[in-house]
Amino acid sequence: MSVKYEAMVVTCIDPRCQKFIPIFLKEKNLEDKYSLFSIAGGTLAVTGDSYKNWKQTFLDNLKITITNHKIHKIIVINHRDCLMAKEMFGDDCVSNEECETNSHHRINELFQNQISKIYPDIKFEYYLLSIDGKFLNMKA
Ligand SMILES: [Zn+2]
Repeated sequence: MSVKYEAMVVTCIDPRCQKFIPIFLKEKNLEDKYSLFSIAGGTLAVTGDSYKNWKQTFLDNLKITITNHKIHKIIVINHRDCLMAKEMFGDDCVSNEECETNSHHRINELFQNQISKIYPDIKFEYYLLSIDGKFLNMKA
């Protein structure tokens, strides 16, 4: 039996987010069709320079899921009130919804630029998850 996988999902490890993510992905018809990479800060951690080992670990995992699972998309689910965002953008920014959203946009662009250089054919989707379970669809 050949299963067609779709995406690697990248999320933060924040416990407040976990219950919403599989429901959301099931609603998108992605149940059993995605690999999962969960790391503190989600893509915030793998685009920055603070955690260089994490970036390499992410890239190694991405290579494996592209090679073995033939995924063709990365779905990023970062979230509001993220501790990593507070570390990177500052508390004042994260408590201001507009500043927080704009900062995530910048990280999404940076992430996409970095990954597209290695995998030019990969597609991207971005969501910003509120702690109450709402997913904001963000264009890169
Ligand atoms: Zn987080």
